[in-house]
Amino acid sequence: MPELPEVETIKETLQDIVGLTLDDIKILKPEYVRSWQNQPDVYLGRRIAAVSRRGKYLLFDFERGLYMVAHLGMSGRIYLEPRETALEKHVHIVFSLNTGQQLWFQDARRFGGLWLLKDYGEMFATMGVEPLSRRFSTSYLAPLLENRRVAIKTLLLNQRMISGIGNIYADEALYRAGLRPERPAGSLQPAEIRRLVRAIKQVLRSGIEQRGTTLRDFQDGYKQKGEFQDYLKVYGRENEPCPACRQPIVRQVINGRSSHFCPICQK
Ligand SMILES: [Zn+2]
Repeated sequence: MPELPEVETIKETLQDIVGLTLDDIKILKPEYVRSWQNQPDVYLGRRIAAVSRRGKYLLFDFERGLYMVAHLGMSGRIYLEPRETALEKHVHIVFSLNTGQQLWFQDARRFGGLWLLKDYGEMFATMGVEPLSRRFSTSYLAPLLENRRVAIKTLLLNQRMISGIGNIYADEALYRAGLRPERPAGSLQPAEIRRLVRAIKQVLRSGIEQRGTTLRDFQDGYKQKGEFQDYLKVYGRENEPCPACRQPIVRQVINGRSSHFCPICQK
């Protein structure tokens, strides 16, 4: 499932469509549109003013105040085709741009979606802090963990607290911080919280530098795969030796999510 680094990578490649005009929108699967605050026609002839990211969402600002939001769900892809070509399978939405390029929204499992919005207000009202922002710090995180008995891993996946972290980067951050995923959040000591904040930022930045993790589906806006899968230390590496101590990596289901950790290095 695409997480912050993957969505950020798509966002970076889609900077190339900023300034282009939307000539046509084809909605092949109406149920893929999750909000119809605007009819698709009102976007036509408008320039794309910005493409940005919030959590795991991609945001499209159109000139004169119209908006769209896209989420990739489990397996979604958003990418450019150089010109009108025969549609691939599972493409639900097609934007035609004034350069002749098309932007395709493809999602085989259909957990993603597109929102046609008058503004972003409500959509992100309850979304947690951006982990790469300055606001995400030990002093932000520590009070949220206090007295919480829930597993720290479960808390990291809570988008209302921190936005953009999913299963892969949570496991990798906890490994780098030396913390067991099932540790009760409230049991973390101040030094451990500091390590965790640093590890989260580091692992997300590395993920972006390597242009995302491609285990199955992920590709950027130009259909290029990411490379961070080559840098994963625990995720998907059950029974492989820990890079630090050679002990086999353990996989364990915690609150319904499969979690990977080193039983020696992580406490
Ligand atoms: Zn180890």
